[in-house]
Amino acid sequence: MRKVTLWKTVVMLIGLVTILVACGSGNESGGEAENQANDTQAETGAEGEQVTDETAEGQAGGEVNIYTARHYDVDAELYAEFTEETGIEVNVIEGTAPELIERLKREGANSPADLFITVDGGILNTAKTEDLLQKVDSAVIDEQVPADLRDVDDHWIGLSTRARVIVYAKDRVDPSELSTYEDLASDKWEGRLLARSSSHLYNQSLMASLIELNGEEATEEWAAGIATNLARDPEGGDRDQAKAVVAGAGDIAIMNTYYVGQMSVSDDPEEVKVAEEIGVFFPNQDSTGTHINISGAGLVKHSPNRENAIKLIEFLTAPEAQTIISQANYEYPVNEEAEWVEILNSWGEFRRQEIDFAAYGEHNPKAVEIANKVGWK
Ligand code: FE
Repeated sequence: MRKVTLWKTVVMLIGLVTILVACGSGNESGGEAENQANDTQAETGAEGEQVTDETAEGQAGGEVNIYTARHYDVDAELYAEFTEETGIEVNVIEGTAPELIERLKREGANSPADLFITVDGGILNTAKTEDLLQKVDSAVIDEQVPADLRDVDDHWIGLSTRARVIVYAKDRVDPSELSTYEDLASDKWEGRLLARSSSHLYNQSLMASLIELNGEEATEEWAAGIATNLARDPEGGDRDQAKAVVAGAGDIAIMNTYYVGQMSVSDDPEEVKVAEEIGVFFPNQDSTGTHINISGAGLVKHSPNRENAIKLIEFLTAPEAQTIISQANYEYPVNEEAEWVEILNSWGEFRRQEIDFAAYGEHNPKAVEIANKVGWK
């Protein structure tokens, strides 16, 4: 019992430090899951070893331990519901994806972690290629999650997706002027385009997908066009680009769908107004499809509570939980039986890029190199 109590205390302390550090960083308002490769936080280190020592052989059958880089309230609500339904306790450690991956490496076979949860297919693939994950074997999950939203070897399972779309000022841009990501680099958008920094993973993964589809040379030309067309030096997160469109700083912006949904129900009337005044456009519908990214859960290689971990993924990918994720966070469910929240329906169905998410990780260094070379800040 002592060990369980210590584990909880350490989890709480680390959770608190994580929250304090996250609040202090202030990169973007709201429940942003930042996965920056350069993010560092102070809380990992000595405590990590302590958790390992105190819990390595202390796992009862009644729990599941999660290392997560997602910071959304709905996740905690679903874990609580899972506990209520199954009696299996869920312990959560939050951090940035790179630091959690480092921690899993350091802890190795002694890690108490059962699941690694993060946003971005590239990072999920990194956890796999670092040999930190194992196959999830579940007919229930195979049934609930389409094959293209799971790792090819089922080392991680998709939980939700978001599309990276073009938003436009409804009063100034006719959607018939919009077509593809490639077109955003054309002269007609010079001084009219808004995008956050290329240092953010959202843009890096978009670039990586274009490298996969169009090649390095074409993507370098594209990125140079984007850098030229930007209405201002990148500042703020995705929401800030939409706000700048409505404020007239530019006419169109690149952003993730779920932020538009979140802004539409924001406590801040300015955000509600922004969500009303922008239109959502899904690029590349007649060619390669719209870029999406994915949140997923990887089963940790040395998971001490493997069965519970798989049960939790089954729970999270069932229609009920999937509907709740969509309603709370405006992400797209991976389970096709789940209901979409109203605003997603209003934007309609769309065709997504058909590429292996592993490409996001494989091409990430090249994407960063290109962005630096062409001067997309
Ligand atoms: Fe985000």
